[in-house]
Amino acid sequence: MEVLKQRILEEGVVHSDQVLKLDALLNHQVDPILTMEMGREFAGRFADAGITRVVTVESSGIAVAFATALEMKVPLVFARRKKTLLADPDALCERVPSFTKGIVTDIMLSRQYISREDKVLFIDDIIANGDAARGLIKIIQRSGAELAGMGVVVEKCFQAGARTIRDQGIRLESLVRIESLEDGKVHFAD
Ligand code: 5GP
Repeated sequence: MEVLKQRILEEGVVHSDQVLKLDALLNHQVDPILTMEMGREFAGRFADAGITRVVTVESSGIAVAFATALEMKVPLVFARRKKTLLADPDALCERVPSFTKGIVTDIMLSRQYISREDKVLFIDDIIANGDAARGLIKIIQRSGAELAGMGVVVEKCFQAGARTIRDQGIRLESLVRIESLEDGKVHFAD
């Protein structure tokens, strides 16, 4: 997605060889017009997949997942990062390490909002090692729903996450692929 590459070059900040800060676009501020374009792009790529629900993880995936769900005219469900100790018998939970925070968090999705009748599109902001994605994929699989595929805004190809998802036979579409962040610059894969 050329417009997104351009915005990343203009507004992204290379924090290290591993981390690209995208606070201006994805992780702090959101541009509604650009975000709606991303949603249209994902909706177009999965138009024939029979999607009944879009699923993401709070919080940075929500805006683009909402844009996708609006375009597809289906509900959006976001997995919550669990902060409560109250047991919820309906909850599907997974423990995942957080790439940027260096901590472990529990993510949770209620069985009320996903079922075996669903065909799910999983949307997320950035894929690095893929821990968050693999956690949510396990939850989707345990719900009995069918996972039609996954869409990520930014794929960092130099980290293993995207490959491990594709190796499971899951269709993964990314809007922008980054090959490296060496020398303080963003190098796109294509
Ligand atoms: P993973 O579980 O794939 O290692 O990391 C996924 C999550 O960590 C993403 O949803 C994103 O919020 C955060 N993350 C991973 N790499 C980056 C990065 O380079 N920049 C930013 N801003 N967030 C990242």
